[in-house]
Amino acid sequence: MTALVQVEDLIKRYEMRETDVLKGISFSVEEGEFVAIMGPSGSGKSTLLHLIGGLDRATQGRVYLQGRSHDDLSDKDLSSLRRREIGFVFQFFNLIPVLTAGENAAMPLILDGVSRAAALHRAEEALVEVGLAHRLNHRPSELSGGERQRVAIARAIVAHPKLILADEPTGALDTRTGDEIVGLLQKAAGAHRHTVLMVTHDPRIAARAQRILYLRDGRITEDNQVGSSGQTTDGIANRFRG
Ligand code: ADP
Repeated sequence: MTALVQVEDLIKRYEMRETDVLKGISFSVEEGEFVAIMGPSGSGKSTLLHLIGGLDRATQGRVYLQGRSHDDLSDKDLSSLRRREIGFVFQFFNLIPVLTAGENAAMPLILDGVSRAAALHRAEEALVEVGLAHRLNHRPSELSGGERQRVAIARAIVAHPKLILADEPTGALDTRTGDEIVGLLQKAAGAHRHTVLMVTHDPRIAARAQRILYLRDGRITEDNQVGSSGQTTDGIANRFRG
């Protein structure tokens, strides 16, 4: 079976920098998996997520989504792949302030040419999914941090993408709200067979995933199933401290 995501010997060097930020990363993720990526600040986690999401291109190596390499797509086709097949969730939500929750959640569909009415209808369903139907017509400034992140998750799932990429989705939230948000990502992976890749520095949050990849200085140093030996929250925290 083809993996949903396959990353092969990925190298990234930013212009004006002397060393590679990613130094040859390879792994694959099966459909429906919920994977956390941990590692110290600056180890390359966001860079890796951006390359997998087609927000940036690798210096060398390949990213395949459903067996198809990003490199074989034009920028236009890559944008359309992003809108249809990948949902993004960011630490600081990245919502558009002048739009309502419903309009924000509908945005990937509207950008993809779906009619406004149909897009808003599907956005409402996505907001129901994340428990926020009652906030449909609120603007981000009228919502709490946790509610904003729920809107962002609704936006990420609205097009029923195969893959959800979440970069520190709980980083700006208190513990309890963060737990609720990661619960929604778990639900997305479990009930809806979305595949979720989540960057986090929080061992408690990472322990909710099925598998944890540890990144250090641009390389994967460990790749563990959660629940195997040593994968208690303390064990995860100790590994993280290294
Ligand atoms: P992490 O998410 O693990 O904190 P990042 O992927 O954000 O790590 O960054 C890894 C390294 O790459 C850091 O040293 C960072 O300063 C550098 N970096 C990230 N983005 C850029 C960029 N656009 N241009 C130059 N350097 C960058």
